[in-house]
Amino acid sequence: MSAAFDLQRDGNHQITLIESSNRLGGKIITHYHDDLIVEGGPDSVFTSKPAAVELMEELGLESEFVEPIGSGFSLYVGGKLHVVPRAMASLIPSASSALESLGFLSSAARKRIRSEGEVPKGAGDDESIASFFRRRFGSRFSKTLAEPLLAGIHAGDAEILSMKALYPTYIGMEQKNGKLTTEAHPPTSGSHPHPARKPGFLTLRSGLQKLVDVLQDQLSRVDIRLNTRIDTITKDDAGVFQLAGSDNFEADILIFAIPGSSAANYLKTISPKAGDLLAKIRYASTAVVTVAYPLAAFPKGLHDNGFLVPADEKIDITGCTFSSTKWPGRAPANMGLVRMFMGRDGGMNVDTFSDDDLLGKAIKTVEDVLHVKEKPSFTQVDRWSQAMPQYAIGHTDLMDGIEEALSELPIYLVGGSYRGTGIPDCIRQGRQAAFRILEKIEKAA
Ligand SMILES: Cc1cc2nc3c(=O)[nH]c(=O)nc-3n(C[C@H](O)[C@H](O)[C@H](O)COP(=O)(O)OP(=O)(O)OC[C@H]3O[C@@H](n4cnc5c(N)ncnc54)[C@H](O)[C@@H]3O)c2cc1C
Repeated sequence: MSAAFDLQRDGNHQITLIESSNRLGGKIITHYHDDLIVEGGPDSVFTSKPAAVELMEELGLESEFVEPIGSGFSLYVGGKLHVVPRAMASLIPSASSALESLGFLSSAARKRIRSEGEVPKGAGDDESIASFFRRRFGSRFSKTLAEPLLAGIHAGDAEILSMKALYPTYIGMEQKNGKLTTEAHPPTSGSHPHPARKPGFLTLRSGLQKLVDVLQDQLSRVDIRLNTRIDTITKDDAGVFQLAGSDNFEADILIFAIPGSSAANYLKTISPKAGDLLAKIRYASTAVVTVAYPLAAFPKGLHDNGFLVPADEKIDITGCTFSSTKWPGRAPANMGLVRMFMGRDGGMNVDTFSDDDLLGKAIKTVEDVLHVKEKPSFTQVDRWSQAMPQYAIGHTDLMDGIEEALSELPIYLVGGSYRGTGIPDCIRQGRQAAFRILEKIEKAA
């Protein structure tokens, strides 16, 4: 959508947006139920990667911006919730008081963390999230802090996910300073900070669906085809792409804003090499289960943003957001809205459970961890099957190879499977593709 938005500004081109489902927006979907605003997929955008905030501003959505009310979160370790001090959220334990407050760290683990400055610098090569943080701070820190914070949000396995592709800033800091602990500012996973905003997250008052709706309204020069299935794409002798399926199209230029596995199928004949490499990107399935209760049902109330769960804890969720305390206006003041994430690579496979099973597991978690005894007054299950790209070690090299294989073809890959997994990354990739296409067209004219 962001690529189409930029391409249509140059009014000379025919742009068709082909969508297989019955709506645009993909994983961005907000449910409205009475006074509840429930995000089925993402709930916010990272502001220090500016592309999302910039697009929202261009679309006149600034008055809709809301920042989180709560700032803290907890970790569920050893069957208990532990509040994580603000100073630890960046995973750089600069204040030793922050470490002391984490009751689940033994004195040996704390000592190991404090000795990070003595650990020799790594080679700067790609390695897994677990390997990087184990090397720098020891295995307890890696398992209980780095893994849930950095791998859990990708529904990923920290032993597999790539530091270079997902969190290059930490590698850069280690290479520059020889250690992490001296840095005063928390790193972000990529691009330059948005000058007008402090690093953090924001969302839209009426939910992220608003971004999809407003953007769709703006695509007035784009031919949007919903419910359209493309089976094959071939290239004819004149170099024109022939798309055949539930409808047929011709195109000079293609932007694939779809998972790598689907793009791989389409590219089988046009670029077998790119197709083979794209097929290497793996996906995990995840589900979001949202439940609402009267606030009075939570014996200790709901505070802050929620909690994350390390992979080796024996509960069925990977994390939980208290939407009604994290964001303003998500639920009436007397309601608690709780969003739980389930499924991860190498862990629970949500595809093998029914919605009712997942809901049952989520409700049991609320009962066990938050000590709620009544039944929820609202429930919602959103499933994201094979939808979370797993950037394995070597992902950036894999992407270089794919782009090299496609370099002679007017084919562009954008989206969460490729060069960054969050909404800002997807928007940036879409707009960069549009920019490169318009530049090429201009040069050729
Ligand atoms: C539960 C969850 C929570 C998340 N939380 C956050 C968050 O808080 N912040 C954040 O920035 N990111 C978050 N993300 C990640 C973010 O949602 C995704 O990276 C982003 O939405 C992916 O956008 P995309 O355009 O690459 O793919 P998608 O959103 O998956 O869109 C792809 C579109 O292509 C369509 N499609 C697929 N195949 C075909 C085909 N062959 N032909 C035609 N159409 C096709 C699909 O129907 C879909 O509409 C979250 C993801 C999930 C699942």
